[in-house]
Amino acid sequence: MYDEQAETGHLEELLAMLGAGLDRYLKFEHPDALHPGNHWREVLETPLPQRGVGIEQVTRDLVETVIPNGSPVPRPGFSSFITTGATTASTLASTAASIASPQRYMLTAFNFLEELSLHWLAEMCGLQGMQGVYSSGGSVANLVALGGARQHAFEKIGHDPAADGVKLQAAVYASEECHHTIQRSCGVLGLGRHSINLISCNSAGRMKPKALEQALVADRAKGRVPIAVVGNAGTTNTGAIDPLQALGEIAAEHAIWFHVDGAYGLPGILDEQVSHLFRGLELADSAIVDPHKWLGASVGVAATFVRDRQLLYRAFTQEPADYLEGAVEQEDPALSSFQHSLDDFGIPYFDFGVELSSPCRGVVVWALIHEIGVEGMRQRVKRHNAMARHIAAFARRHPNLEVLAEPTLSICCFRYVSPDIADLDHLNKRLHRRLIRENEYMPSTTRVQGRLALRPCYVGARADQAQVDGLLEAVLRIGGKLARGIRNEG
Ligand SMILES: *Cc1c(COP(=O)(O)O)cnc(C)c1O
Repeated sequence: MYDEQAETGHLEELLAMLGAGLDRYLKFEHPDALHPGNHWREVLETPLPQRGVGIEQVTRDLVETVIPNGSPVPRPGFSSFITTGATTASTLASTAASIASPQRYMLTAFNFLEELSLHWLAEMCGLQGMQGVYSSGGSVANLVALGGARQHAFEKIGHDPAADGVKLQAAVYASEECHHTIQRSCGVLGLGRHSINLISCNSAGRMKPKALEQALVADRAKGRVPIAVVGNAGTTNTGAIDPLQALGEIAAEHAIWFHVDGAYGLPGILDEQVSHLFRGLELADSAIVDPHKWLGASVGVAATFVRDRQLLYRAFTQEPADYLEGAVEQEDPALSSFQHSLDDFGIPYFDFGVELSSPCRGVVVWALIHEIGVEGMRQRVKRHNAMARHIAAFARRHPNLEVLAEPTLSICCFRYVSPDIADLDHLNKRLHRRLIRENEYMPSTTRVQGRLALRPCYVGARADQAQVDGLLEAVLRIGGKLARGIRNEG
C-alpha cells in the first residue's frame, strides 16, 4: 500500500522529470488539446481511486498526459485578451514559495520580499511612495482599491461603511470603456452596480473630461455620495489611456478619490514614446497593476497601491478572532527582531484586502525584476508596443487591411477588407475562426465603434516581431481565400 511521503527526499529527481516535460511543452511541437486524435480525456477520466498510484506515477501522468494537453495561452503567437504564460523566473519563484513559505505572513524572507517587491513595482510604474498589497488579479485589486475609496468617502461624512454598511446612494465615475470588474466591485462593496456613472469617450476611447464634470455637477444636485473617479491607464479593449492629468485635477477639485486602473497598461510608462500619456498618475489616490499580464508572472498576481494602507486596514480588517490570539499584541521589546515568535505576523497583508490565506506573490515579482531589471522590462514593453504600431503601419499601406483603432500600447485593432464585400463583420468573424483553428497566431476579436476587429494584444515575454509577420501573413492568406469564396457564391 502506498503511504504518501511528505518528506519526499527525491524532489530533485521528480522536479527534473517535471522540468523536462515543461521544456518539451514550451517547444509547442505537440498537437493541441483539441486535436481530434488526442485521447487524453479517456486516459484521465477514471473513477475515484480507492488506492493511490504513488508519486512517481502522478509525475509521469503529469508529464505524459496533462502537460502536453495544456493551454495555448503560453504560445508566443497567442495574443488573445490580455494574458500570457509565466516566465521561468516566475515558475521557479512560485514553486519555491509553495514549498518554503505556503503563507505570506510571519517574518520570513518571503514576507520581506512581499514588501520589497511592492516598493520596486511602485517605483518602476511611476507610483513612488505608495503602499501596496497583492491579490489574485485585477478584479480583486480593483475591489480592494474601491473599498479604500468607499471608506474614505463615507468616513468624511461620519460613517463607517465597513462596519455599518452603506446607507446612502453612492456614485462612481468611470469611462464607458472601463473594465467590467469596476461594476462588479461596486456590486460587491454594497454600492450597487448601478452606482456607476459611465462617462462617454472620444473616438480614441479616452474619457471626455467635460462629460465627467457635467456628471459630477448633475449628481451633486441629487445628493449622491461621490466615491471615486476611475481612470484607465490602458483600456482592455484598445489600450487607450484616459487623460489622467485632467481627470485627476477634476477629482481633486471635487475632493473625490482618484483611482487608476492600470491592470494591463501601467508598465507602458516604461516606453519613452508613450510615457507622457501617464502624466497625472501622481494625482492618483489608488492604482492597480497586474504583474500577471505584462510582467510575465504566473496567473494570480495583482497589486493595489494606495497612499496609506491604514485606510485599507479600516476597510477590510476582520473582527478580532480567538484563533489569532497573540497576533495583534505588542511585540516584547526585550526580544531582538531575530528572536521573533510564532505570533509575529510580519506586515499584516491579510488585513489590507479580502484574502487571509494567500500564496507569496512578492517573491514572484521580485524574481521577475531581479532577473531582467527595469531595463529588461522596458525592452519588452517597447518591443510589444512597436509590434502593435507595426501592424497599424502595415495595415494603413495595404489595400486589404484597415486599422480600426490606432494603437496606444501593445494592442492593434484592425480588420480584413475587400471593396466588393458588404458584410465585413461576417468575413472577419470567419477569418478569426480559421486563425484560431490553425492554432499558431491567435488574436481575439472585439468591436470598435460597432465594427468587428481582430485584436492582437502582445504582453507575452516570448512574443516578438515574428508573431506579427506570421499573423499578417495568415490574415491576408485566409482573408483572401474567404473573400474569393464569398465572391464565387455571389
Ligand atoms: C485584465 C484587466 C482587469 C482584470 O484583471 P484580472 O487579472 O483578469 O482579474 C481589470 N482592469 C483592466 C483594465 C484589465 O485589463
